[in-house]
Amino acid sequence: MKMNISSLTRHNGNQPSPTLKAGRKLLRGFTLIEIMIVVAIIGMLATLAIPNFMKARETARKNACISNLRNIEGAVQQWALDMNKDEGSTVTYSDIKSYLHGNVVCPDGGTTFQDSYSITTVDAAPTCLRHPDTHKLPPEN
Ligand SMILES: [Zn+2]
Repeated sequence: MKMNISSLTRHNGNQPSPTLKAGRKLLRGFTLIEIMIVVAIIGMLATLAIPNFMKARETARKNACISNLRNIEGAVQQWALDMNKDEGSTVTYSDIKSYLHGNVVCPDGGTTFQDSYSITTVDAAPTCLRHPDTHKLPPEN
């Protein structure tokens, strides 16, 4: 609903028509105060939402990493079973590589298995090298 105000004014002379009045009201827009209130509200919502997004992303990465650790542990156990290794045997990535599917890396910045995870012996749980304090398997009961 676009109106040409200058042509309407010219057509009716000095007497403004009801159509022109409506047109002026539509073109009024927002005052500075209204815009500032809207910006302030958006800012407040962003302050509430952003830490939650960050936390959700961190939790998702942690859970994905723990899932990787479980897969690694499973691969180590499978390898030990297949190769007849005892619990104290040393295990390396090349030993269990064929038991893992795809490129297993920590979702928080890992690029290779070597910079993401550490495996030592068959009975020791694999650990995440990126975040060893939080990315860890829950203790066994
Ligand atoms: Zn990790």
